[in-house]
Amino acid sequence: MQLPRSVLAAPLALALLAAGAAAQTPTSALNPADVDTTCAPCRNFYRFATGGWEKRTPIPPAFSSWSSFNELADRNQAVIRGILETAAREAESTADPDRRRLGRFYATCMDSARAESEGAAPIADDLRRIAAVRTREQLGAEIARLHASGLGLVFDGGATRDDRDSRRTIFQAAQGGMGLRDRDFYFQADSAGRKMRADYRDHVAAMLRLLGDSPAAASAGAERVLALETALAEGAMNRLQQRDPDAQYNLMSREAVQALTPAFSWAGYLRAQGLERVDSLNVSQPAFFRGLGRALAERPLDDWKTYLRFHLAARAAPWLSSAFARQDFAYASTLSGARQMQPRWRLCLNRADDLLGDALGREYAAVAFTPEAKAQMNEMIDNLLAVYGERIRTVPWMGEETRRQALSKLSTFDRKIGYPERWRDYSGYEVEPGSFYANVRRGQAFEARRKRGQIGAPVDRGEWFMTVPTVNAYYSSNANEIVFPAGRLQSPFFHPAYDVGANYGGIGATIGHEVSHGFDDQGRKYDAQGNLRDWWTADDAARFGELAGRVERQYAAYTVLDSLHLNAKQTMGENIADVAGVAIAFQAMQRALQGKPRVLIDGYTPEQRFFLAYAQARRQVWRDPALRIQVQTGVHSPGEFRVNGPLANMPEFAAAWGCKAGDPMVRPDAERVRIW
Ligand SMILES: [Zn+2]
Repeated sequence: MQLPRSVLAAPLALALLAAGAAAQTPTSALNPADVDTTCAPCRNFYRFATGGWEKRTPIPPAFSSWSSFNELADRNQAVIRGILETAAREAESTADPDRRRLGRFYATCMDSARAESEGAAPIADDLRRIAAVRTREQLGAEIARLHASGLGLVFDGGATRDDRDSRRTIFQAAQGGMGLRDRDFYFQADSAGRKMRADYRDHVAAMLRLLGDSPAAASAGAERVLALETALAEGAMNRLQQRDPDAQYNLMSREAVQALTPAFSWAGYLRAQGLERVDSLNVSQPAFFRGLGRALAERPLDDWKTYLRFHLAARAAPWLSSAFARQDFAYASTLSGARQMQPRWRLCLNRADDLLGDALGREYAAVAFTPEAKAQMNEMIDNLLAVYGERIRTVPWMGEETRRQALSKLSTFDRKIGYPERWRDYSGYEVEPGSFYANVRRGQAFEARRKRGQIGAPVDRGEWFMTVPTVNAYYSSNANEIVFPAGRLQSPFFHPAYDVGANYGGIGATIGHEVSHGFDDQGRKYDAQGNLRDWWTADDAARFGELAGRVERQYAAYTVLDSLHLNAKQTMGENIADVAGVAIAFQAMQRALQGKPRVLIDGYTPEQRFFLAYAQARRQVWRDPALRIQVQTGVHSPGEFRVNGPLANMPEFAAAWGCKAGDPMVRPDAERVRIW
């Protein structure tokens, strides 16, 4: 994935992707039973490579989809659960402060009896403060206080790299505060859109009733919350607009920001966070803040107070009594299709990963990641980067000036593998026996303080934006680096004992994918120093645009759920990274195979195993509501297209499986796209 340019980058990932690893030694990456031999590989390779698995794989009731990522996350979580349970047993006797934090955090989280007896009491102080707001000045001060304590309601605010000077960290204000998953959902006119808004309104009303409002007051309150959020959404950028980094670079003086939102005191806001010294900030979406300014000045104060009460309760709901947690799940399941709540241990484990990720990651890495794995990853990355360099030097469409700059950017690519060199210091985060929600709030405040401390300080090149057990990887355009957490560097994606084909198809293609983000339709706009700066000649930019346009046309033609087309503009960066990444990884595999004996394993050549491993790593099954929302809001295409899309462009794929012109997995020469 490409790291989102939002301020609040990380914590969503785990519920889907999640943590920790198992160190058994698999002898083979590929299970022949996963293949569906009734489907010819040249007709639909995804079906061929994953059909057997799909037939025997139900989606567990608590999930909206299931995939190879979930399977690995499940195994990782078993490791992490062991770490946390041991830490919980030793919490009061250990001398290791991080183990004590982990142990107390997990033990207090698992204390569901206490949560049940407390009801909404853990948020009572915050509710009292909101109830006491009498003026618009006090409203602004309350928003500032919530932000300072790590609760980003109303909008997002926090530290980020300066997009045009990646050596410094600045304060950024970005759109946020809208409860629906997507800005467009507030306006989507069809029945699906109406249902989403009705479900949301019901959810707001249910939460307000749980906070003690009468049914009539709760219904009226829900209407007003939806109306208020709709007003905010009017000024917000949609997802496509948010793919344009130039449009979101608006560095402004404090006075200019103040003029955008006269009813909100930025001086007071920054002071509440100890950021008096900040004299300029980036406003990602000025129109959103103009609208927010109007809403803060004009909407009834009671509407704002209802809005804050609801969002406070909605965020805390999983950790309050079961009535809150059940309502939280009931609403989430309207979007995910999940039929069962996640077991508490899994929620607790994900929360520990959010707030104590390095403490957990350090223990996880010790059991799940070896120097041998790191050495092999380094070798694969070396091979991939060498092939990339060759390709940049030889692609026919790029002129010499741009080529020189692209090679310069490639030469400064940084890499992080497995786990950070320096672990985060959690001293200052007090985790106490007793109320779990209090531990969450102290953790959120600690993290908010940590991030604020970065503003104006030298950039920490060692910082990671994903935790170690996470089953994912990323490219950061400001750091110009690729990052592979240990949680992802596990079977079935990668193992030091696997054959070359399996490892290059499984993780090599991901390395190629992440490197390619540096040269996709967004990443290409950043230079070797990680700065947003146009280094392309106009001709080369136009030729890149033509190639990207071909990728767009290819993916726009794919449909899911009958008539729903992929959003090929929204997924363009990921699709380009897939198309380029597999092709580069394949060539890197050829390099790695040089001078080695070619052996068949399970009857497959190394090339065939490369493609099988690639496809099996991307297999997934979905519930319909979740798939629909993924297609509408996600940046990744569903697995079938992440596999068939890139491979149908590759002559190497056709050669490996004996496919001929006219086969569905062979795109006509005129439509074939190869960027690198
Ligand atoms: Zn990606």
